[in-house]
Amino acid sequence: MKFIKKGFTLRFTISLLVITAILLTLLTSIISAVQVNRSSLISNYLNKNESYAKKLASNTNDLLMTMQGNIWAVAQILEREEATDVQLIDDLFQENTQYFNSLVVADHNRDIQAISPHNVGVSIGDRLTSEQSKMAVNTKKASISEPYRATTGRLIILVSAPIFDKNGIYKGFVGGTIYLEEKNVLSDMLKEHFFGDGSYVYVVDKSGNLIFHPNNKRVGQSVIENEVAQKVISGQCGSQRVTNLEGNEFLAGYAYEPNSSWGIISQTPAQVVDKPTHHLVTRMLLFSLPFLLLILLLGWWIASRIAKPLYTLAQFSDEATLRPVPAENIPEIRSSYYEVRLLSQSVKIALQNMNQDLTHLRHEVKIDELTGLANRRAFDGMMAEWIASNMPFALIMMDIDHFKLVNDTYGHVMGDEVLRYLARIMQLMSNEDDLCFRYGGEEFGILVKHSGLGRAKEMADRLREQLAVTKSPTDSSITLSAGIAVFPVHGRSAQQLIEKADEALYQSKENGRNRTTVSQLPGA
Ligand code: GH3
Ligand code: MG
Ligand code: MG
Repeated sequence: MKFIKKGFTLRFTISLLVITAILLTLLTSIISAVQVNRSSLISNYLNKNESYAKKLASNTNDLLMTMQGNIWAVAQILEREEATDVQLIDDLFQENTQYFNSLVVADHNRDIQAISPHNVGVSIGDRLTSEQSKMAVNTKKASISEPYRATTGRLIILVSAPIFDKNGIYKGFVGGTIYLEEKNVLSDMLKEHFFGDGSYVYVVDKSGNLIFHPNNKRVGQSVIENEVAQKVISGQCGSQRVTNLEGNEFLAGYAYEPNSSWGIISQTPAQVVDKPTHHLVTRMLLFSLPFLLLILLLGWWIASRIAKPLYTLAQFSDEATLRPVPAENIPEIRSSYYEVRLLSQSVKIALQNMNQDLTHLRHEVKIDELTGLANRRAFDGMMAEWIASNMPFALIMMDIDHFKLVNDTYGHVMGDEVLRYLARIMQLMSNEDDLCFRYGGEEFGILVKHSGLGRAKEMADRLREQLAVTKSPTDSSITLSAGIAVFPVHGRSAQQLIEKADEALYQSKENGRNRTTVSQLPGA
């Protein structure tokens, strides 16, 4: 049926289904691959950073032990030698420059007795004022200080050892300093270790202040808010994802250095896993592309195979609704699908039935609906039969005069009434063997059996006379014009006869209507 909107075709729908299924499958496998890959990369980075932080913690421990050992050795020397010997202190400092930024000797009042190098901002005789120097004097023990601002304004760590005289009397201490904000032994050790992927190491003291950071300006800042910093200075080792104070995500490994209570954190920006992930996705897509295309083609082909017979069937059924189709024109549907074959068979049977019904109906309907007379088809059939059996008969063709006027004056309903009225009169005036028919519109006719010209003309005239004396439904009488042709006199075919009768009818109209004209004899 043409008014049905086309919508989606079956082939399109199946193909869409196949494509969607494939894409979804691909998507799921990519997502799961990405997830597996990412989590293994992440745990890899976490592990790597943790073991790296541990290694650095152990290196730092070694370093601090060495430094403490060296300071202790210097203290031993100074117990024997003169602590104020400038040359001696300079020599001792030279031996330790790889570890300390400066070497200082202070007495029990914290007054500087010797210092090397000489240009650090304080000099012999100055008093050290920091809490850390007080602590060294008070405890009289070797220690590694917390980072602090020294009298010189530098942020430093002091590695100190007490000096006693040979009687065991406390004389003061010797300290090696680490200038945290400048090039120092720690930064020398930690700076080397960069992976080139944005990873870096930083160190916090036990209060959460930065001792080392690749960005020198941050040394001294507190990062105690950082989750990992909190964990590491509480003595824990491990790894985790962490978001730093600037909002960047990192994969961090951390280790605690017990000697100094420092925490060492090695971390990698979390986005390092993005690049390999992108790489993986691209590779997977490229790898599956040929297969994808192949499956798509296959899907399209299968969809076509399923849909084609159905499409043919549908197209055909669509046409069949518009005009009857002979049974032999029904297409042969070949399909490996049971349902399609079943459907095709049903359509075929339905169409055959429909065709039969139509033929049947066409033969059946021979009655004119409006008047109840025989219709044109019945007339054709009857005349053909009579001609075939060579039976003489007359054909009277009639046309109501000025019928349009009836319609125009009284309306079409009344017009119909008048047509029915004429039909009744026609049947009244004809014999049982004759066939009264409606040719079409307001044109009627009678096939008069066994009749020559005379009897037919008589019948037509009698009909006109009857009409003249009878009131039609409009309350006034109607008239008609008639034309007559006779078989076999005027023609031997139905067409010839109708033409002849029509000519005669036209003649009646020409000559003033309300009359009967007999077709002229051929050659007359
Ligand atoms: P004429 O004498 O030349 O035949 O004049 P007329 O008015 O009959 O002329 P014409 O053949 O042109 O008009 C026929 C009219 O018959 C026109 C049409 O409206 C009317 N008619 C045809 N069939 C029907 C019908 O079934 N019912 C009604 N009410 N009118 C019909
Ligand atoms: Mg007419
Ligand atoms: Mg007419």
